[in-house]
Amino acid sequence: MNGIYIHIPFCIKRCSYCDFCSSVPKAGAIESYTSALIKSIDNFPVGGVPSDTIYFGGGTPSLLSEVQFERILNAVVKKFDVRRGSEITAEANPGTVSEDYLSSLRKMGLNRISFGIQSCKEKELYTLGRIHSFSEACKAVELSKKAGIDNISADIMLGIPYQTKDSALESVRKIASLGVKHISAYMLKIEPGTRFDCEEIRSLIPDDDTVSDIYLEAVKALDRLGFKQYEISNFSVPGYESKHNLKYWTGEEYIGFGASAHSFFGGKRFYTDDNIEEFIKNPCAEPLTEDSEPDALEEYILLGLRLCKGISLDRIADLGGDISGIESLISRMIFGGLMIKSGDRIALTPEGFLVSNGIISSVIEKVTKI
Ligand code: SF4
Repeated sequence: MNGIYIHIPFCIKRCSYCDFCSSVPKAGAIESYTSALIKSIDNFPVGGVPSDTIYFGGGTPSLLSEVQFERILNAVVKKFDVRRGSEITAEANPGTVSEDYLSSLRKMGLNRISFGIQSCKEKELYTLGRIHSFSEACKAVELSKKAGIDNISADIMLGIPYQTKDSALESVRKIASLGVKHISAYMLKIEPGTRFDCEEIRSLIPDDDTVSDIYLEAVKALDRLGFKQYEISNFSVPGYESKHNLKYWTGEEYIGFGASAHSFFGGKRFYTDDNIEEFIKNPCAEPLTEDSEPDALEEYILLGLRLCKGISLDRIADLGGDISGIESLISRMIFGGLMIKSGDRIALTPEGFLVSNGIISSVIEKVTKI
């Protein structure tokens, strides 16, 4: 089934590490962008596509007013065949929500919310440039539950300035104990051109070995707290996996709207340019091609090995891969504690996830060699 992604590229303040498509909005920009989004949805060439997830990502979707949120949602429902019981998620900054706001969104159909909490330590949050404190994050989770949205996800960042193994695990424990159902634990990557791209910040982040250790300990701690890992960076109480994000890794299709939004639809990958002003001026511009003929075998391995359930060797063979010489690679990986094999499926362990790029390249190289 298809998913719908809506990108809201506005934030109250830019975080120091962020390179997402987002800016601090000028007066009237969110309203103009909302109208542009609706035009782009109305003009999408195919209507009535059966869809069971809608995901408002950003940026900070919680900067939309209730009216703007409803207008966008109505446009999606009018254009596509949005199934009853669909998962409807919005990312939110904990510093931007009130109970009334969340109750209104809940009434419109929002049933999942994802808060970028990141850490329980004020010094770490301040250095990241976040606008919220940990107590505001706790309050946002409570408000969300009061508003009837109890399918709550929280983001945690690992390997950030001033973080130690103890402070990271304290964040994991405290955030997991808020009654959320899902946790995304991402490792900080310093992106070129961000405020974090400097020696001063590099000297404040834990070294690679410590970050690996933090990740492995976080995986164990989350498991003890009832959050089962299902993807490299994603953990949930069983049954609360993100249906929308799973589409990205299982090869299901999705259609993205808004500046920088990516789509995989009709067997093609395409995206919208990340120029927000240009999108407002010309929301129905032809999308840019990312890949007009994605390689199904490569994508299956590349995306599937991100998941704890891994990939099927039979499926690799069905997709035209040569699995005749892969056993020695698998044995080496299993011996090194990086992979597990069960029946015809192979999957990476948490240790394997830490070096997943290299393993995935080796598997692809092995099965695509003529
Ligand atoms: S709130 Fe999110 S999207 Fe906005 S600047 Fe911070 S990290 Fe980037």
